Amino acid sequence: MNIASVDILGVRVDNVTTSETLEIIQGYVEEGTPHQIVTVNPEFVMQAQRNTAFHRVLDEADLALPDGHGLLWASRVLGTPLRERVTGSDTLPLIAQMSAKQGYSLFLLGAAPGVAKRTAAILQRENEGLRIADTFPGSPDPARDDELVSRITAAAPQILFVAYGAPQQDLWIHRNLERLDVPVCMGVGGAFDFIAGVTQRAPAWLRERGLEWLHRLIHEPWRWRRMLALPEFVCRVLWQKMARVWRKQ
Ligand code: UDP
Repeated sequence: MNIASVDILGVRVDNVTTSETLEIIQGYVEEGTPHQIVTVNPEFVMQAQRNTAFHRVLDEADLALPDGHGLLWASRVLGTPLRERVTGSDTLPLIAQMSAKQGYSLFLLGAAPGVAKRTAAILQRENEGLRIADTFPGSPDPARDDELVSRITAAAPQILFVAYGAPQQDLWIHRNLERLDVPVCMGVGGAFDFIAGVTQRAPAWLRERGLEWLHRLIHEPWRWRRMLALPEFVCRVLWQKMARVWRKQ
């Protein structure tokens, strides 16, 4: 599939829909070679401005999903609109559904002890016949890479979800991708926590209005410092837009 992309402050975001994403993932599993999927949101874009290693990981990812209302807003302001928001948390259950149908097995890595296991049990309850290769909390510490890679390669899943939060999960996948030899490796942030009920996702009406960040800030106030990236993101996008307008005059 030919994937069109949009540039948001120098970060590539693929202009895909949810159904295209599922089709692409199926294609990756059929190909069998390792692929990395990242779920880009405004915090990712701002982190990438400061962290060149993370920026490179996002550039080199096989698929960069448009996660986050802020990206859709920015893409419209910059005159290159993204079609749909495709989040890791919404896509994970759909990937599980597709995997149950296709016979793909999943490995759930990361989150606090017991959370990935609980997530796997819930996904299996909702999707009859879903194969779970294994679950493991592990750690994004590079010193534990060998141990985790051995564990995952022994379980030989088709799809690996990594929940260490950004940028750790994406850096982890990038440095281990080739030796993991798993067709689809995707960083999913707090998605296991949502599915297992450890944290509550914002209600749909808030998500639809682009206010998920407000819900997270109220329930997880320690995020305030990270969330300063959001107003900065808005200013940078507006600045880029103005710079383009001035250049044209
Ligand atoms: N996490 C982990 N090990 C770590 C750091 C984080 O397993 O060393 C897990 C944490 O338990 C949570 C997820 O990574 O399940 C990060 O969730 P968060 O919502 O912070 O991610 P975001 O989507 O904001 O990047």
